[in-house]
Amino acid sequence: MADSPGALLSILRDGQARTRAELVQLTGLARSTVSQRLDALLLQRWIVPAEDTISSGGRPSTAFAFNPLARIVLAADLGVTHAHLAITDLHGAILAEHAGDLAIDQGPEPCLGWLLENFTKLLAECGHGLADVCGLGVGLPGPVDHQSGRPVNPPLMPGWDGFSVTTWLGSRISAPVLVDNDVNIMALGEHTAAGPQAGHLLFAKVGTGIGCGIIADDRLHRGARGAAGDIGHIGVPGSDVVCRCGNIGCLEAVAGGGALAARLRGEGLQTADARDVVRLVRAGDTRAIRLVRQSGRELGLVLASIVNFFNPSQIVIGGDLADAGEHLIAGVREVIYGRSLPLATQRLDIRPSALGARAGVTGAAAMVVDHVLAPDAVDQSVQR
Ligand SMILES: [Zn+2]
Repeated sequence: MADSPGALLSILRDGQARTRAELVQLTGLARSTVSQRLDALLLQRWIVPAEDTISSGGRPSTAFAFNPLARIVLAADLGVTHAHLAITDLHGAILAEHAGDLAIDQGPEPCLGWLLENFTKLLAECGHGLADVCGLGVGLPGPVDHQSGRPVNPPLMPGWDGFSVTTWLGSRISAPVLVDNDVNIMALGEHTAAGPQAGHLLFAKVGTGIGCGIIADDRLHRGARGAAGDIGHIGVPGSDVVCRCGNIGCLEAVAGGGALAARLRGEGLQTADARDVVRLVRAGDTRAIRLVRQSGRELGLVLASIVNFFNPSQIVIGGDLADAGEHLIAGVREVIYGRSLPLATQRLDIRPSALGARAGVTGAAAMVVDHVLAPDAVDQSVQR
């Protein structure tokens, strides 16, 4: 193991400083080999000499630590009407951020132009330039082919279908660009924040629509064609509502924020979208509270089957409708604990998002860091 600079760096990524002797012992490599690898990593600033430590022989020896400021990461979470940008270090700590209104239906070039313009401002704000950037991660509110970085028939993004986000942005920032859908990057963000207990995590986003990001064995599971986690179109038994996809009784058409807003409009209330529903819940409107709790139960019904099948350790509930507080999550818990198998629910934690509005940028940054610090990528960087 560790027979390359990149592999040695992956040992140091846990943040703990280690001496040459400790690394020799850990890797089983010759001292001269370890020294060579460390020199290569020092040259690229991937590591820095840390504080001197006293070794067992009594002589001070230098320890080496991962350098989270070796490069910086650009992270963008673009929603349908709103965008959140952040610059982070390689540990994912946010150095600068900006959130603003951005209508995704303007099409790709105006939106991505806005993104670059604001990243330029943020870079200046934290005293960095494009040369420090090791990659850009972007989340989009629709289906994305992660390999090619192109949206695939995104229903809410006119003009974006097949547009190569990676090529357009990559040619302008001269760094790798990684693109995924918003739910996947949020799942990655929550996984990063949750720590070692969350190797099997589901992130359910309940906004206008409903989607789910899947972390299996500490890795994002995208499925064969990137369509994994589309729980919004799983049928809810006993419902006859027609969904926009043409099927009957889809979870999204029954329990999504758009569906709830429409139902409340039918009762004469002024609710355009999920946020208006949340506003009513917060104002104590009993009709809205009842609907949100029922929506939680329907989501719970779908998730209960998934819990039996997948056995997650954590289910995180986010998205606009989750801002309605405990009402949504109470419905989810009620059904999952009632219906899933005891072994699967014994240590299952069902909780609200820990990162809230920052889940997306945190995950977009994590996606880039994992790509850039993969041993092969580090090896290539030190050969330059
Ligand atoms: Zn559907």
